[in-house]
Amino acid sequence: IDFRRAHFVTSAPDIHHLPDDQGMEIAFAGRSNAGKSSALNTLTDHRGLAHTSKRPGRTQLINVFRLDDDKRLIDLPGYGFAKVPLEMKLQWQEKLAQYLEERRCLKGLVVLMDIRHPLKDLDFNMIRWGVAAQMPVLVLLTKADKLKQAEKQKTLRTVKATLAELEGEVTVQLFSSLKGTGREPALAVLNGWFQR
Ligand code: GDP
Repeated sequence: IDFRRAHFVTSAPDIHHLPDDQGMEIAFAGRSNAGKSSALNTLTDHRGLAHTSKRPGRTQLINVFRLDDDKRLIDLPGYGFAKVPLEMKLQWQEKLAQYLEERRCLKGLVVLMDIRHPLKDLDFNMIRWGVAAQMPVLVLLTKADKLKQAEKQKTLRTVKATLAELEGEVTVQLFSSLKGTGREPALAVLNGWFQR
């Protein structure tokens, strides 16, 4: 699959405004500012595909990118931003939960975490949800360029060890949009999911 062919289709306020629940989707989730938009741009080699957030926590929309007739990448609203009202946070959770639980074409989940702040509660919940739904999960430890080699490897080992306890299909990968680190292996994983 040529991820470079990704193009924007729509921004949906909720799951009722998404394209028909057919074909296959891979969803991207992460705390706001985790580097999700940058990762989508890096994976698709498309600088302006997803808009890197100037105002974290503001976009509640589900962005849809089409790869071909029956394959899509889904950019879920970022979670965990501290400075939004509780009511808005609850709306988000509701929206995320609705997408994750009801979307039948969802085939895999990519969870992005800043390598310097891995495995916050909401991240862990998200990954656990994917495993419980018997879905493959790819965890990208983003902004890997921010840490020295030894620190990177140490965090990678710790995160892998923690997630191994879930006994699901979870892959953990170092990633840097800045350096392109992890792009090829991540694409190989996503390609594999789409081939199932
Ligand atoms: P999102 O809110 O999860 O979509 O995060 P963005 O992609 O908008 O990135 C949030 C911030 O982190 C921005 O200032 C980006 O420039 C920065 N960022 C994203 N990816 C990387 C990376 O791989 N390395 C570094 N050093 N900074 C990054």
